Amino acid sequence: MTDTSKVIEGRTGPWEMVLGLEVHAQVASNAKLFSGAAVGFGAGPNMQVSLVDVAMPGMLPVINKHCVEQAVKTGLGLKAQIHLKSLFDRKNYFYPDLPQGYQISQFKDPIVGEGEVIVERDDGSTFTVRIERLHLEQDAGKSLHDQDPNATFMDYNRAGTALMEIVSRPDMRCAEEAAAYVKKLRTILVYLGTCDGDMEKGNLRADVNVSVCRPGAYEKFRETGDFSHLGTRCEIKNVNSYRFIQQAIEYEARRQIEILEDGGKIDQETRLFDAVKGETRSMRSKEEAHDYRYFPDPDLLPLVLDPAWVKRIEESLPELPDAKKARLQSQYGLTAYDAGVLIIDQARSDFFEAAAKGRDAKLVANWVTNELAAKLTAGDLDISVSPIAPSEIAELVALIEEGVISSKIAKEVFERMWAGEGAPRAIVEKAGLQQVSDTGALEKIIDDLIAANPGQAASVAEKPQAIGWFVGQVMKATGGKANPGVINQLLKSKLGV
Ligand code: ADP
Ligand code: MG
Repeated sequence: MTDTSKVIEGRTGPWEMVLGLEVHAQVASNAKLFSGAAVGFGAGPNMQVSLVDVAMPGMLPVINKHCVEQAVKTGLGLKAQIHLKSLFDRKNYFYPDLPQGYQISQFKDPIVGEGEVIVERDDGSTFTVRIERLHLEQDAGKSLHDQDPNATFMDYNRAGTALMEIVSRPDMRCAEEAAAYVKKLRTILVYLGTCDGDMEKGNLRADVNVSVCRPGAYEKFRETGDFSHLGTRCEIKNVNSYRFIQQAIEYEARRQIEILEDGGKIDQETRLFDAVKGETRSMRSKEEAHDYRYFPDPDLLPLVLDPAWVKRIEESLPELPDAKKARLQSQYGLTAYDAGVLIIDQARSDFFEAAAKGRDAKLVANWVTNELAAKLTAGDLDISVSPIAPSEIAELVALIEEGVISSKIAKEVFERMWAGEGAPRAIVEKAGLQQVSDTGALEKIIDDLIAANPGQAASVAEKPQAIGWFVGQVMKATGGKANPGVINQLLKSKLGV
């Protein structure tokens, strides 16, 4: 059955998109993949470059064991096969940012094989993206075209930095799914500690493959595995934000549909996303693998892993997002949706767990994912530096649970907490925000109201809903601080309903 939400209406009928992503994740490591040069952001140009990185004659690459361990860890986190034997190949091409004249990558025999990622959609439902492979490779340097009117400068700090290229199957069907996949993948890498996930610095970036086809074609592809059921794809290089990923996909799918509807055909090519114009444009027509003349790097032996070492890595894995999500649901009784929102950010779920001890977990989750998250986003703050501590959210929820404040007043208390007025209990006491549960005070207000509005009071006997008007009046008289449960009880007994 075709999911209508994925259909794009064209002039000549409906279309669907098919998306497969190649994500480049910089390995969290102090040193590069084949040299001891430091890795880090912000050093002066060419300050983190060894003779190996710039391919001085006679230099030899030496594999960095830590980077291999990070790739294995990532493979395990993606529930993927770890290949105990893999090969490094030279991918030959000329570019000024690549002094070797080739990139050391893995072609036929990558370190990690097939795996999967379970992805949450915005509505809380999930889908699975199959992983085809993960391989290790070197990053290139950087050409600086804007430093001098007549020259291009080269910065090789990034040359030779270890990247993991994670290739998905074409399992995403709309722009939101592609962004959600990158988000979940990033979360897994950050939990594992194998990539810092910093997309702004380009430490995690995606090449997005887009094709379009008629409804039904994708299902045929899934049944048979035959790519000829799909349309020709274009690859959009190096997109480094969720928003740009979505914009690039939407634009690209539309572009392809227009060409096809005009009777044209799609050329398989590599395109760039122009974030300013919101367009993709052609960079080069797609090169074939044979253009790169891949061959095993004669300077590097096959990479052979000890199964016992892999096992030790597996046993040392931290709790991963999916396991944490399941635990938050069973331990705290959260919905899949709430748990899914919490686990996307490790610090957020840690914050939640610190606040939820002994409290109404659903309420705590709401405060963390709604009010607090909104404030943090507005202030561009990470939850790890939240000015409100988990213990303070716990205290706020305790006040609601104890009936000291209503949820409405809690919002006001929260505003004051955010403004730095102190801990919630102290704020409530100082500002006199306690709910009026004192029946004596409430009774007096109610008696006066009934006396002043005999008509309204009489109507309650016939129309019990009319009691709502009285509740509203009492709330007004107490500045919203009356306990609604207590008011209702008192009104019912006094009005005889
Ligand atoms: P290359 O090395 O040429 O980039 P790969 O076989 O590694 O090719 O595939 C690149 C990506 O393209 C993969 O993520 C794959 O899922 C995706 N892909 C392949 N065919 C299609 C298609 N018809 N539509 C969308 N994505 C596709
Ligand atoms: Mg590719």
